[in-house]
Amino acid sequence: MKYTSLYQKYRPQTFEDIKGQDHIVKTLLSALKHNKIANAYIFAGPRGLGKTSTARVFAKALNCLKSNINPCNECENCKEITQGIFPDVIEIDAASNRGIDQIRELRENVKYAPLKGRKKVYIIDEFHMLTKEAFNALLKTLEEPPSHVVFILATTELDKIPATILSRCQKFIFRKLSIEEILEILEDICKKENVKYEKEALKLIAKLSEGCIRDAESLLEQAILLTEGNLSVDKLKIHLSLFTHEDIEELLKLSLSSDLESLREKLNKYESLGYSSENLIKAILNYVSEKFKKENFEKFSQDILLIIFETFSKAYKDLAFHPYPYDLIYFTFVKISYFNDLISVKEFLSNLKLPANNLDENVKKNLKKLLPT
Ligand SMILES: [Zn+2]
Repeated sequence: MKYTSLYQKYRPQTFEDIKGQDHIVKTLLSALKHNKIANAYIFAGPRGLGKTSTARVFAKALNCLKSNINPCNECENCKEITQGIFPDVIEIDAASNRGIDQIRELRENVKYAPLKGRKKVYIIDEFHMLTKEAFNALLKTLEEPPSHVVFILATTELDKIPATILSRCQKFIFRKLSIEEILEILEDICKKENVKYEKEALKLIAKLSEGCIRDAESLLEQAILLTEGNLSVDKLKIHLSLFTHEDIEELLKLSLSSDLESLREKLNKYESLGYSSENLIKAILNYVSEKFKKENFEKFSQDILLIIFETFSKAYKDLAFHPYPYDLIYFTFVKISYFNDLISVKEFLSNLKLPANNLDENVKKNLKKLLPT
């Protein structure tokens, strides 16, 4: 049996299936309803958000034998489009067909009326990859397009498309999905696939996919395989070497309170369970960036976050050539525990509100040992 990935299996087949892009769906539906179909559309936005899937649903709506708006998915035309064998829906990957010859051929074919459908739909993926000559050749077609042709030009890099082309297209910008939107889709898939899951585990996947539904679905697929269809946060964390913000917070707290014994224990546990040292450092850097972005200095001061970021960025560079990565991480935490002492001295001094040179000679001598020269 042919293997189908979750992403392919749950690919949107109707406008209703397209999640998180309501602004686009609404406009396309309205165009279909009022029969105001443009000759060229640009679908722009980050990868994995369903641009090509939306293009296919639209192509079906333009050619369905039973409906002019919502494709039925049952007629011959709909079925053939789903299978990718409909003669009037032509998909071109511009990454591998980027030259002038391919576009010249396309311009020749555009002239002929559709064989089976109402519209001939050209879906050009990675459209920004075309060469300059190819863009120019296509522009001529876009200037005087035959009425039976619809172009859907999908791209992840809108700024690489020449303005002359942009001005002839209706633009749609696909947006990243929220964690809640992705969570809803993942829950739905788990139910259909009879997968047992903890909601928190799915939330973790949703967070990791950073708004990209395709990534979320392939991560879910990987997680289902690894956890044998029983998705718990604990299993997921071990299998994917994932660290949550709470894990990182705990390590940092142990380091800053100089509880080095517990810190070592915790790291030993991660190491023995096979957690990736690289992922751990990445998670620390990510944690610090997040706190900074949100200007959330509740748990750790800005100073100490800066030091943690710098120290672990250096550790990350050293990691690749290090024979004992977990030792490297441990000693990096130890280093950070010293910094915290220095910052407390600084705070202590500023609280005293005394200029340092008024201090007792003995205090100064002791401070000198602590402070960097
Ligand atoms: Zn149909």
